[in-house]
Amino acid sequence: MHTAHGETALATMNFQPLLDEINDEIRPLLGQRGTVASYIPALARVPAAQFGIALRTCQGEEAQAGDAATPFSIQSVSKLFTLTLAMRHMGDTLWERIGREPSGNPFNSLVQLESEHGQPRNPFINAGAIAVADRLLSRGDAKAELLALMESLCGEPVAFDAEVAASEAATGYRNYALANFMKSFGKLDNDVQAVLDMYFHQCALRMSCVQLARAAGFLCRDGAHPRRGEAAITTERHARRINALMLTCGTYDAAGDVAFSIGLPCKSGVGGGIVAVVPDRLTLCVWSPALDATGNSLLGMKALELFVAKTGLSIF
Ligand code: GLN
Repeated sequence: MHTAHGETALATMNFQPLLDEINDEIRPLLGQRGTVASYIPALARVPAAQFGIALRTCQGEEAQAGDAATPFSIQSVSKLFTLTLAMRHMGDTLWERIGREPSGNPFNSLVQLESEHGQPRNPFINAGAIAVADRLLSRGDAKAELLALMESLCGEPVAFDAEVAASEAATGYRNYALANFMKSFGKLDNDVQAVLDMYFHQCALRMSCVQLARAAGFLCRDGAHPRRGEAAITTERHARRINALMLTCGTYDAAGDVAFSIGLPCKSGVGGGIVAVVPDRLTLCVWSPALDATGNSLLGMKALELFVAKTGLSIF
């Protein structure tokens, strides 16, 4: 796919000055536009004027700038990891309950779910991730399984933020509506409360850009563990499919725009984090809490655009 020339250029690319440069360009824009996710009270209190960027290459080199070591609520970025576990357990039978088409609708929309009889369009909108959480619960202790996966990927302990999970449990009316609606169509096997408890906890994982860039490393390495010598996280086929879903569905109703302006598989969350994958090269995580109208980090997207413009890296 890439020319020998491209490989030489990238192999010699020193990413640290590049991330410093992006950080310098983004910092003056902090706090100017966008709003933090105010519908989750615990997230509404997060100071907007923060920005971090971190990357990890397939060879294990790392670079970071800005607030890259500050932990934040990963929110929907967690859907990458629960999907990975569900695909590992269930293979193609997972798709009997969940579609693979972009929604073209906001991540928490109810409309499509009604016309499609409780079958979520894809695993990254809330309804789809709730259905994935249901599948994982049917297999056992889903929270413990997710924590174990994240700790293995990061090489250090990772925790749920109990305050964020409780805040969403107290106010997540839309997610209750989505889950009850799916339950009424017979699309959830487990108790709605138990499924949402898992979903709210996965969204409440607290991680930094550095940790997320590491954790997503298997997605640029055809499923291989980010650290050499560890068992593969998923198969090459599954890793490709997760990347495909990230490109088409990972940023919700902005997915077309993101493919157009950035051209990388991305997964965003309303905590302001975005993970992007350059297949066979590197994973990147950006974070800035202020969001645009589609629920994606405004300056995170801007930083990804700068990264792609400066490196020429894109899947196209
Ligand atoms: N926990 C959030 C919610 O359910 C996740 C949404 C997101 O990050 N896009 O609304």
